[in-house]
Amino acid sequence: MGLLAVGTPLEWEEAKKSASHVRSWGIEQLLALWRKAKGKERDALLWGDEIEYLVVNFDDAERNVKLSLRQADILHALASDPELIRQGGGVPDLNQGEPKADRPAPTFHPEFGRFMLEATPGKPWGIGFKDLLDVEQDMKLRRKIAKEHMESSEFPITLTTFPLLGDRKSITPFYPPSGSKLRSQFVPDEIANPHIRFPTLAANIRARRGRKVELNVPVFHDTNTTWPFKDPTVDYDMHNWPEDQDVRNGAAKDNCIYMDAMAFGMGSCCLQITFQAKGIEEGRKMYDQLSPLGPILLALTAATPIYKGFLADTDVRWNQISRAVDDRTPEELGEKPLKSDRWRIPKSRYASNSTYISQDSRLRPEYLDPDLVVDEDLKARLVEGGMDDRLATHFAHLFIRDPIVIFAEDLQELDLEKSDHFENLQSTNWQHMRFKPPPPGNDTGWRVEVRPMEIQITDFENAAFSVFVVLITRAILSFDLNFYLPIPRTTENMETAHRRDAVLNDKFYFRKDPLPPPQTKINGVSSTPGSGANTPRSRVPSRPSTPTGPVEDEYELMTVNEIINGKDDGGFPGLIPLVESYLDSVNVDVETRCELAQYLDLIKGRASGRLWTAAKWIRRYVAEHKEYKQDSVVGDELVYDLVKAAERITVHEGRDGFAKEMLGECRERP
Ligand code: GLU
Ligand code: MG
Repeated sequence: MGLLAVGTPLEWEEAKKSASHVRSWGIEQLLALWRKAKGKERDALLWGDEIEYLVVNFDDAERNVKLSLRQADILHALASDPELIRQGGGVPDLNQGEPKADRPAPTFHPEFGRFMLEATPGKPWGIGFKDLLDVEQDMKLRRKIAKEHMESSEFPITLTTFPLLGDRKSITPFYPPSGSKLRSQFVPDEIANPHIRFPTLAANIRARRGRKVELNVPVFHDTNTTWPFKDPTVDYDMHNWPEDQDVRNGAAKDNCIYMDAMAFGMGSCCLQITFQAKGIEEGRKMYDQLSPLGPILLALTAATPIYKGFLADTDVRWNQISRAVDDRTPEELGEKPLKSDRWRIPKSRYASNSTYISQDSRLRPEYLDPDLVVDEDLKARLVEGGMDDRLATHFAHLFIRDPIVIFAEDLQELDLEKSDHFENLQSTNWQHMRFKPPPPGNDTGWRVEVRPMEIQITDFENAAFSVFVVLITRAILSFDLNFYLPIPRTTENMETAHRRDAVLNDKFYFRKDPLPPPQTKINGVSSTPGSGANTPRSRVPSRPSTPTGPVEDEYELMTVNEIINGKDDGGFPGLIPLVESYLDSVNVDVETRCELAQYLDLIKGRASGRLWTAAKWIRRYVAEHKEYKQDSVVGDELVYDLVKAAERITVHEGRDGFAKEMLGECRERP
C-alpha cells in the first residue's frame, strides 16, 4: 500500500495548506522521471503477484476466532529469521530490476490492517512458461513461511474480509473502539498498522471529508430478516467525539449494514498482478486493454458476502473500500454548491479508472470519460515539459486530489532524484489499474498494476487467476487485441459486478470484436468470426485504422460466460479461447500445457457456473449452518466454523472432496 516514509505527519488543517505545493513538486518529479525513462526499452516482460492475508487466531476450546493484531511481531520474526535472510528475503517486489539467477525467499510486507500481511515473490516472474507453473508453489511457500512465524493458534487466511470485523470484540489483544484517529464506534485505532502513515491517512481522510467515512452495504433480505432492517449494532448514544453525531445525522441507512472507518475497506484483501512492460508504449497499451477486463475479473473472483456479522446483498469488496477512503467534501460530492472547493468529483480516490492513456490509433475520443476532471494548470505544466496530451491528462486527473499524508520534513526542498511527492498522490489514487513510472535510482521499467481481483481462499485459485491475467495479457500483446470500451461502460460494469452472483446472472458491456481486421492475416491462420474456431484472425501485430461508425455498435451486453468462454453464435470468441489460441501459437510443451489447462479450467468453470465463486460457497455454508436463522445474522459460532472451513479448504484444496463446488474435482496437485 505504498511507501513507508518516516517523519512528522501534518494534521489535516496544516497539510491542506501545503497541498498545492506537494502537487507541483510531485508534477516536477514526474516530469523528471518521465524524461529519464521515456526512451527506456526492455527486453523481457516481467510480472509479479501480491497476496494479502488476514491473520486469524483460533480458540478451539472456546470455538471462537478473532483477528490477531500481531502483524508487527510476525513481520519482525520474518525479517530476523536467519534462514530467510540467507535466502535473500526482504527484496521488494518489482523494484529490483532484472531477476537474479536463483529465486530468493518471498518477501513480506505490512498492510493497512494490523491484522494483515502481504507477500510477494522474492523476485519478479519472467516471460517463461515455467514461471507460470511455479507461482502456485511459491504462493504455498509464502503461506507456509508466514504460518511458521506465527503462533500455533494463528493462521494466514485469504478471505477478503473478516466476517466479524467491527463487532467490538473479535480482535486480540483486545482494545475498545473509538480512538482519536479513526473515531469509529466499532473498531479501535489499534486496528490500523501503527506506522504513522496509516492512522494519519485515516484521520486526514476523515478530517478532509468533514465527517467519518460512511459505508452502507445493503443487507441480504432473507426470509426472517427484520424489515426494514435497522443495523442493530449502531450506537446512537455515543458522545466521545464530534463525529459520534454522524449516526444521529442519518449516516446509518435503513436496510444496510453500517460501517464508519477506513479499516472496513482497507482491511480487505485482494490479489494484484503487476506487469513490467518492455517500454512506455507497451505499458500504456496494456493499461488500456486490461482496463475493460477489470469488472469481469472482479465478478469472477467475488468473495465478500459478509460484513460485521451480517450477510450482505452484494458479493464483492470494491465499493466498500471506495467509500472507506472517500475523502471528498460535501461540495465535491455535489451535496452543497461549490464555494471553497475547486470542482465536483464523480468518483472516490479508490474507484474504477477514468482514463485511457495509450497513443493507439484505435482509441476513439468517444471512449474517453466525458466527466473526467483534470487540473488544467498541472496538465499545462506537463505538456510544457514535453509530455503528450493523453498522458498529461491522465496524471493531471490523478492530481486533482489532495495529498493526504504530508511529512513536514519533506517540504524543505525539492529533490528531483526522488519520487516522494509524486508517489504521495499516485499511491493514494487507488484505481483498478495503475500506471507506474520507473522509480528513480534503479533499473525497473514502466509498470502496470491490475488491482480489481478479490483474494481467493486457496493458493490454487490465486495462482489460476494470476496465470489467467498473465496469459490474456500475452494474448493481447501478441494478437494486438482490441478491448476498447467507452469508460463510462466500464464504470457501470464495476457496479454490476457487485450484484449477488453477477458472474452468472448479469450482463456486462463488452466489445463485440476484439480481433484485428481480417486483411492483416498472415500465416494462414483462420478465421472469420462465426467460424467458431478458437483462433484469432491474425497472429501478427497490426495497426488497423481508427474505426468509424457509432461507438454503440462496437459493444453489447454479454454474460461473463460469453466473455470468458465465447458466444455460441460464433460472435465474441471468448477470452479463454483467445488464450488457448495464444498458447497454440507459441511453443509450449504438452506437460506445461496440461498444467496450465488446470488453471484455465477454473476460470472457465467460474464463468459457466460449473464452479462457484467463494461468495456463493460462503452463502451456501451460512444458509446450511445450524446456527443460521434465515435472519441475515452471521453469528460467532458460525464464523468460527466458517473460518475453520476456509482454513481446511486452504490446506486441502478440495482433495478431501470439501468445497469441490468451488474448486472442482480434486486434482492431483502437490
Ligand atoms: N487491500 C486493497 C484491496 O483489496 C488494496 C491495497 C493495496 O493497494 O495494496 O484492493
Ligand atoms: Mg497491498
